[in-house]
Amino acid sequence: MNLPTVQFTAEQEQFRQEVRAFLQQHIEAGTFQTKCDSWLSGSEPSFSKIVGDENLIGLTWPKEYGGQARSSIDRYILTEEFLAAGAPVAAHWIADRQTGPLLLRFGTEEQKQYFLPKIVAGECYFAIGLSEPNSGSDLASVRTRAEKVDGGWLVNGAKTWTSNAHDAHYMITLVRTGAYNPEKKHENLSQLIIDLHAPGVTITPISYLTGEHHFNDVFFDNVFVPDDRVVGTLGNGWKQGLAELAFERSGPERILSTFPLLNEAIEELKRQGDERGLAEAVKLVAEVWSLRNLSIGVAKVLEEEGEVSIPAALVKSVGTKFEQKVPEIVRLLLDVYPRLDAEDKINRLLAQSILHSPGFTIRGGTSEILYGIIAKGVIAQ
Ligand SMILES: Cc1cc2nc3c(=O)[nH]c(=O)nc-3n(C[C@H](O)[C@H](O)[C@H](O)COP(=O)(O)OP(=O)(O)OC[C@H]3O[C@@H](n4cnc5c(N)ncnc54)[C@H](O)[C@@H]3O)c2cc1C
Repeated sequence: MNLPTVQFTAEQEQFRQEVRAFLQQHIEAGTFQTKCDSWLSGSEPSFSKIVGDENLIGLTWPKEYGGQARSSIDRYILTEEFLAAGAPVAAHWIADRQTGPLLLRFGTEEQKQYFLPKIVAGECYFAIGLSEPNSGSDLASVRTRAEKVDGGWLVNGAKTWTSNAHDAHYMITLVRTGAYNPEKKHENLSQLIIDLHAPGVTITPISYLTGEHHFNDVFFDNVFVPDDRVVGTLGNGWKQGLAELAFERSGPERILSTFPLLNEAIEELKRQGDERGLAEAVKLVAEVWSLRNLSIGVAKVLEEEGEVSIPAALVKSVGTKFEQKVPEIVRLLLDVYPRLDAEDKINRLLAQSILHSPGFTIRGGTSEILYGIIAKGVIAQ
């Protein structure tokens, strides 16, 4: 891997302090409580609206669509601070991270003008419609189908594990717009923007083992999707989807889902004056620092529209293992009693981390699938 190293400028460090102050102000005001895995399971539309009002969504997008035209490194700093603070950003996260960039790259002018300003305002949320009951890792086998009718498409089928579909307004949905040929599975796939409030859409919750409602089954029964809601080129859904996955896999959310726990554990060890415990905890800090440098390097290459699928897969596979390791080490270092409803922060954050961490190495592509991508890439070099 030949990833660039990135030095933050004084302006970028200043921006970090501004974001940190904004988050601290809202923690102190009680707007939100720090949570682990907040980027996917902390959906609070009222907080997303506050973030939108602060011009902190669509940071890198052109000004004509409501963005701030800032660099991807600025966005990296922003997302890193949200994750470190455990802020409830899940409602707008997908739209900000991947729907916006997808529409900027492949969308029509009308789609950009219609959706992007609403996303930027923190008022319009998107879900990811890839997985199906019989298509997960083997994504190219999706069977949800769209048939051509006058003025649009009729969609039938089902998506599953759809994060926050119950809060989202739309779903970028991978569907089959032509015949399914098992020999050429990547063909005849297209991406449609489906209005999740349209007639024929049914969303039913799948509960976490904690009892929390985070993801869903989504069923389509003759759902009409107008022609102007096809994204990019008909039949090019596979290639477009892969471009989207690069944004999905390499960000700081693949490293920092349990960072609030690590942070709090270090504070607790300091309070207890536990030198040996701190010596163990700093090994995790060194690890997260190295992973972060890799992840920032990928963000820089993405900004220059370079090819990052292999380093992105590497960051995700190693980063999510790190996220899972944090609660394992913390429970060895401290005398803790994890409970979701615990009064004290460390026990609450530990419970969230333990209960959410099995999904870290599954969502966004399982580790086994990522190892395959990395191995094939290495062989090809
Ligand atoms: C918290 C969470 C949130 C999610 N959110 C979304 C979402 O918003 N939208 C969405 O579309 N999906 C979402 N998913 C689904 C996720 O993308 C899939 O679970 C994942 O891609 C795996 O698919 P699967 O569950 O069908 O497992 P399978 O593909 O059936 O895999 C089962 C096991 O077999 C292994 N395996 C499969 N194929 C191979 C192979 N070729 N080589 C080696 N091992 C293999 C896998 O690694 C895994 O261990 C979410 C999942 C989780 C856990």
